[in-house]
Amino acid sequence: MAEEKVHPKKERTLVIIKPDGVQRTLIGEIIKRYERVGLKMIALKMMIPTEEMAVKHYYEVGGDAWLEEVGRKAAASYEKKGMKSPFATFKDNGIAIMNANAKYLSSGPVIAMIWEGNQAVALVRKITGGTEPLSSDMGTIRGDFTLDTYQMADVDQRSIRNLIHASGLVEEAEKEIPIWFNEGEILSYRLIQDEILYDVNLDGILE
Ligand code: ADP
Ligand code: MG
Repeated sequence: MAEEKVHPKKERTLVIIKPDGVQRTLIGEIIKRYERVGLKMIALKMMIPTEEMAVKHYYEVGGDAWLEEVGRKAAASYEKKGMKSPFATFKDNGIAIMNANAKYLSSGPVIAMIWEGNQAVALVRKITGGTEPLSSDMGTIRGDFTLDTYQMADVDQRSIRNLIHASGLVEEAEKEIPIWFNEGEILSYRLIQDEILYDVNLDGILE
């Protein structure tokens, strides 16, 4: 059976303003950056996640492959700075990161949101910046508003505090969204600006 084709303008991504983002009073600043590029917010809630939810979010979605990948990314960052990762294997590092993330995400209120639009996943990642704030580009949220590093997080055996979670791939978003939202909490509506971003004929402007 042919797969049902979803229009590119309907791509969705999950964004969570993590507890440090809320504590730094950056909610408005962060929302503004996704809003002004043309993305549409279709769900929003404030909540305090449980540790179980956080583990589900990272491990059930990514599995062992995610554990390896975060470990590999951290080791590569150490190497780039001419240093060596303190962890014996990528997976050991991944497990430590997952446990630390569970504590981090459940430490206070977060804002969970779904954003929709053409290339929503890639666009949100571009605006958000790379995992490690120190090496995130200036102009990105993580690069502009915070200063954490792999090294400092490891010294203190905690997660990198980088203000935001954003889905990395469309498939990741599809698995993550149901962990945070029921179907009934996700809204379907038209924004006036959709006309100019997506309307094929632009035939509604002139009187
Ligand atoms: P991203 O959030 O950029 O998609 P990952 O999916 O690789 O990054 O990791 C999820 C979260 O785990 C990161 O946002 C960060 O808070 C934390 N994290 C990742 N790698 C490390 C690490 N080496 N040390 C501490 N925390 C980490
Ligand atoms: Mg990720």
